[in-house]
Parts: sequence; C-alpha cells; structure tokens
Amino acid sequence: MHERAAAEPMSDRDDRVLNPSVRPEDAQIERSLRPRRLAEYIGQERVKGSLDIFIRAAKARGEPLDHVLLYGPPGLGKTTLSTIIAAEMGVNLRITSGPAIERQGDLVSILTNLKAGDVLFIDEIHRLNRVVEEVLYSAMEDFAVDIVLGKGPSARTMRINLPKFTMVGATTRLALLTGPLRDRFGAVLRLDFYELAAMEEIVSRSAAVLDVPISPEGASALAARARGTPRVANRLLKRVRDYAEVRGEGAITPALAAAALDMLDIDHLGLDEVDRRVLRTLVDKFEGGPVGIDTLAAAISEETDTIMDVYEPYLIQLGFLQRTPRGRVATRGAYDHLGVVPPVARPAQPTLFADDEQ
Ligand code: ADP
Repeated sequence: MHERAAAEPMSDRDDRVLNPSVRPEDAQIERSLRPRRLAEYIGQERVKGSLDIFIRAAKARGEPLDHVLLYGPPGLGKTTLSTIIAAEMGVNLRITSGPAIERQGDLVSILTNLKAGDVLFIDEIHRLNRVVEEVLYSAMEDFAVDIVLGKGPSARTMRINLPKFTMVGATTRLALLTGPLRDRFGAVLRLDFYELAAMEEIVSRSAAVLDVPISPEGASALAARARGTPRVANRLLKRVRDYAEVRGEGAITPALAAAALDMLDIDHLGLDEVDRRVLRTLVDKFEGGPVGIDTLAAAISEETDTIMDVYEPYLIQLGFLQRTPRGRVATRGAYDHLGVVPPVARPAQPTLFADDEQ
C-alpha cells in the first residue's frame, strides 16, 4: 500500500493539538489505530450502511465498485474509509492527493499502473488543477485517457484504455468541486462530527490498541473535548497518556484528563485558543458580525482556508457561529461561552420621524 504522496502544507501553528490535519508524528500512530474493516469502523451509521450495500452489490455482480466521493471536515475518517473499501473489495489501494498531482502525465502514470478493481484514493480532490482534472473525466467515465503525442500540425491523440478502477475522492469542501467532476461519482457521502457515544467508543478502542489504561469515565471526559473528531481524540489521548505517565498516576481518570487538557488550554467543549480568538474577535472587533471570512481571518492572522476547514465547522456545529450571506455572525451561545454580555437589541426607530415624512 502506498502512503500519502504529499505531506499537507504545514502552517507555523502546527504544534496545535487540535488541528485535525495530519502531522508526520501522527503517521505511525494513525496506521496502528486505523480500523481495517467496515465492522470495526465506529459511528457514521448512515455512511456505513450505504457503503455496505454498495460494496455487497458490486461484489455480488463481480464488478468493481462505482466511484465514491467522501466529504466532511478533516480527521473524521475519509482516508480510513478508503482503506476499508479496498480491504472489503479485496483489492489494492493507491493513495495520493490533489496537490501532489501536478501534471497530466503524473495522473496518467498512476492510472495506467492500476489493476482492474483497484481503488485510487485522491485526498483533497478539490485542489486538483483543471488540466489534470480533465484527464479524470474520461478516466472515470470511459476508463480511458487521451494523450497528445507530438506538437503542432503533426500532433495526434492516442487513446489509452485503463483497467476498470474505483476512484475514491475526499474533500473538505464539496462546494469547490466542479460540476462535471462531482457528477462522475456514483455515490456522494457526507461525514458528520461524531456523537459523544461513538467518540467514547473510539477513545476506548484507541486506548486498548495503544495499551493505555483508562477508566470508562476517563474515556468519556476525553471524548467530550475531542470536538467530534477521531483524529483529535487520538491526539489528545497521546497527550493525556504522557501527562499520566509523568505524574505516575496510572489509569486516566476524568480528573487527570481534565487537568491535562486544561494545561493544553482546551476548554470543556474542546475549543482551543484559536477557536476562542475567532469568537472573541467577532464579538470585540466586529460587534458580533456579520463580517466577511477573509476579514475575520486577517484580523486573527490565520489563513482563510484553515478557518473554513478546521475551526468554523465545529463552531457552527456548536451553534456559536452562523454563516450568513453577509458574513459570519456570533450567536448568543458564543457570547455566553466567552462570558460576555450580548449587546442589547437596537431600539426600534422612533415613529416620530416616520410621521414627519408623511
Ligand atoms: P480524514 O481522511 O477524514 O482526514 P482519517 O481517515 O485519516 O481522516 O482518520 C484519522 C484517524 O482517526 C485515523 O487514524 C483513525 O485512527 C481514526 N478514525 C477515523 N474514523 C474512525 C472511526 N470511525 N472509528 C475509529 N477510528 C477512526
């Protein structure tokens, strides 16, 4: 199996515990913690149910699986599902990512090396460049690519047939996908943040795999602060384990988890310093909004993409932030969480003037 072809771009803030993007230190631990079969994959019942039917039907017909698009915030299990799909279908998996495929030739060489039924996983598929994307259209639809040989008037096209493969695309931003690409996926599945019960199960499972002693209440305390994201849960578990080892207190209890997470500046809802800065800036500098996402990102010196992919989805899920046509707005819940009194609703316009106008 091939590993991620390109590391995700790193920002100078990648020491943050909560950033759900992949970091090199995670690669090994992620491999060991990744569920391998559909039955081991916790939560996401709707997605699992659809995939189960999809996979069984394809196998019964003896055909490769149709192309699948997975979307949702980072760290929710899209890559994991691609490995599971390949395992359930009993085929090879090739993993790459949108930004790693720079030229048409790169993609053609990947495609021509696939065997019938193989799964090609393209992470961050919305970041493929247009020229490369066009090769995908015929590859996905007709299992063929046209390559141009030579230049100028003597140039000619040659069609190369490809084995029937399965494309699994993953994206954090469905809206950035072009229509023609989206239309070529037989199934489009959305991953949501995990429910608390599923998160507890994930923490307990990971603790068992890593041989970390944890009480059920400890797992629950940790799960509650992992913002519904398995990758964050696994990362927090590692940090809390270190804390427990240094303190020599043995099993992870709720008190120990809380102490370790407080030290990491992660509050009881799992928000870190950046989440709070987003909310505070909205409230203090922009009177609660609406404010454009670029302005907000600039005000806290973050990249717009990072805010949109990593921070905003969870703040919206908590009901602290709203996305409106005029920009982002802080809700009452955000004010309460920050302990700030919301501004009093503006008084209605005095009717005196209205009368004057008549
Ligand atoms: P994504 O591709 O969406 O960014 P990954 O598939 O890399 O996310 O998942 C990150 C980590 O979270 C994996 O290493 C795996 O250990 C864990 N994980 C994800 N989904 C699940 C799940 N449903 N059950 C258990 N662990 C999971």
